[in-house]
Amino acid sequence: MDAVAQSVVHRWLAEALALMVEHEAELGRLDAAAGDGDHGATMVRGLRAASAALTGATGSSGQLLQQAGAAFADAGGASGALVGALLATAGQQLGDGPCDLPTVTAALRAGADQVARLGKAQPGDKTLLDALYPFLRALAAPPPTQSLTVAWKAALPAAEQGAAATSSLVARRGRAAKLGARSLGHPDPGAVSITYLLRALLATEL
Ligand SMILES: [Mg+2]
Repeated sequence: MDAVAQSVVHRWLAEALALMVEHEAELGRLDAAAGDGDHGATMVRGLRAASAALTGATGSSGQLLQQAGAAFADAGGASGALVGALLATAGQQLGDGPCDLPTVTAALRAGADQVARLGKAQPGDKTLLDALYPFLRALAAPPPTQSLTVAWKAALPAAEQGAAATSSLVARRGRAAKLGARSLGHPDPGAVSITYLLRALLATEL
């Protein structure tokens, strides 16, 4: 068991929840443009459920992420199921592995690919993948010996630019797809919220 890495997952969840509460209303407004306006609430509820599930929990970072993902998915919502699957799959891939750049990148990629499968979504469909795949590409650019924190910080603008660029896309997946063109001119709330989940890791000083 890796006690230091374990506490990283707890610290990440706490920071992610704080950041999501801060942006809950903004995410709700974005979702209301072409959806039911519940995205901020769904993310906060999922993170609260994940935090509750991990209270007092021990295990490897991978095991804790799997637990967090399962609790997030159980908390409900279509996007909750996808983000939960992202975390759970990343945790499964991470397993007992080290929290270094190549291992964490591979884990996050496995999670992203699982979201693509479950959501039947591709890049360009105006989903969280439009922030996550650019982030993964940026994360793969530095040498594998680079510190995870340095690489993560350097890759974050790629996620934020990817999320912002979804403003010019029309939603083709999820509930927003029904209202199609109404999503134009607004970034995808899921792409924006994933940047907060990614940014939260920097605050853990892993
Ligand atoms: Mg919604």
